[in-house]
Amino acid sequence: MILENIKQVQNNIKAACEKAGRNPQEVTLIAVSKTKPYTDIEKALPSGILDFGENKVQELCDKYEILPDNIRWHMIGHLQRNKVKYLVGKVAMIHSVDSIRLAEQIEKEFGKASEIANILVEVNMAQEESKFGVTAQQTEEIIREISKFPHIRIKGLMTIAPYTDDPETNRVYFRNMKKISVDIKGKNIDNVSMDVLSMGMTGDYQVAVEEGATMVRVGTGIFGERNYNK
Ligand SMILES: *Cc1c(COP(=O)(O)O)cnc(C)c1O
Repeated sequence: MILENIKQVQNNIKAACEKAGRNPQEVTLIAVSKTKPYTDIEKALPSGILDFGENKVQELCDKYEILPDNIRWHMIGHLQRNKVKYLVGKVAMIHSVDSIRLAEQIEKEFGKASEIANILVEVNMAQEESKFGVTAQQTEEIIREISKFPHIRIKGLMTIAPYTDDPETNRVYFRNMKKISVDIKGKNIDNVSMDVLSMGMTGDYQVAVEEGATMVRVGTGIFGERNYNK
């Protein structure tokens, strides 16, 4: 089931790329394995996928210990400052940097280990109260501040679009994210590359790809519904 689902998602990404005149190799599929057992990740590995997303530090670290070293772990959930230390040496990318204070802590902990943290700044494009992330207006200023930290590389932006039955309603948020990203890239800030746009989930990843996503985070569409009451 998991392998078929991955194939299906990859085909949908390809179709979205074709529609938009993009090269599918520009898009990385991150399989979001949160709440799922490590055995589900093992079932996914024969597909060749090596990027997996988790939203809890403890769960990411537990799976990191058990699973092969070549997996690239993506921290996609809200990150508390006191947990940053556990991620050092384990994550390929932190997608959810939403404050300068959090970046300060990342600088401190990764710096101690002489490691570089690849991060994305999370933008709350739809300004939803329930979501984390900086506002579109604050994004450049925050990026300029974080870019001064020597152990952090800002690779781009991440957004979580509103939950919706109609992915078309999220197109405007993805399009505006891309605009912000291009705008900031044009300013050539040191330590800031802006090559990554992490946007699109099970309900809306095709639209996100059409609008320029370079990473999509798909959970349910690969591993099935999550059960939070276990
Ligand atoms: C859970 C989660 C996803 C995956 O959501 P699905 O709708 O199951 O694809 C993507 N991004 C973030 C930040 C998440 O927390």
